[in-house]
Amino acid sequence: QHALDHHEHLGLFTETLLRRSQEAHLLETQLPGAAARGELFVAYQPVIEVNTGAWVTLEALLRWTHPVFGPVSPATFVPIAERSGQIYALGDWVLRAAVREVLQARALWPQARVNVNVSPAQLLMPDFAARVLAALDALQAPAELLTVEVTESTVMQNVSLACTHLRRLREAGVRVALDDFGSGHSSLGVLTELPLDVVKLDRSFLRATLTGSRQAALLHGAIRLATDLGLRVVAEGVEDQAMLERLRELQCTYAQGYHIARPQPLATLLALRPPGAEIQREF
Ligand code: C2E
Ligand code: MG
Ligand code: MG
Ligand code: MG
Repeated sequence: QHALDHHEHLGLFTETLLRRSQEAHLLETQLPGAAARGELFVAYQPVIEVNTGAWVTLEALLRWTHPVFGPVSPATFVPIAERSGQIYALGDWVLRAAVREVLQARALWPQARVNVNVSPAQLLMPDFAARVLAALDALQAPAELLTVEVTESTVMQNVSLACTHLRRLREAGVRVALDDFGSGHSSLGVLTELPLDVVKLDRSFLRATLTGSRQAALLHGAIRLATDLGLRVVAEGVEDQAMLERLRELQCTYAQGYHIARPQPLATLLALRPPGAEIQREF
């Protein structure tokens, strides 16, 4: 009886693994046509100024509605696109879609801006900065519309190439945000050494500080250091009012999270923009 249970358990386990890898394979083969079939769209989530509630920028988050699997997380399909080399086309698609949409939104909201996530393979392409600037040019978008979000681990894979790209973008007027800061083995040193405009504090970092401890001191230090260095500090993953209050105490200037607004299509989101958001804030 026992042996049978064990056997069935293993069977189920391998079956799950098999299904997963088959799904990954399916996603990989179907991703190239997804944009043309209208299955991709960009969701946007606002970043607010903590003290006023004013919206300062929007983060573009890629969405894939698969005809069979339904919504597939970018955490699942972006790594697949990286491995299969599709990230270059996909990255261009997101960048252009986001810039085009937010540029149109400027008719309603003149200072609308957009943050676009950049994956490791994209940033480490020899022509990354040139491609970004070419896309802005083709869409007749001002460089200050755009902030690129990169992660520390990506930059560290090739510091000199990454910094060359980031410097070139900043010289043109594009901003650079360090995403997911505090999620891994982040060191405060990167804040002084990399060409940055914005640092985004990871959700896990923030949550850890609610339990008190040394993490709280580290967070406080990171916010102060980043602010002193002239960087804008955004706290990610703000899920409740208590967290927002805590950020105010810690003098963290900007925040983003479900408590403020969920990522959603641009038109739906803009309809939600509160009256306070009419105050024009320079980000
Ligand atoms: P990220 O850049 O750190 O984006 C923030 C993620 O946190 C998003 O997940 C967002 O929906 C989620 N989030 C926002 N507020 C909250 C909150 O209050 N609580 C919780 N639990 N989560 C919150 P999403 O959209 O699933 O994206 C996951 C990751 O996939 C992103 O992390 C980003 O690294 C990557 N990604 C998304 N879109 C793109 C893209 O267009 N290109 C690339 N290369 N990567 C992308
Ligand atoms: Mg991001
Ligand atoms: Mg990111
Ligand atoms: Mg993040």
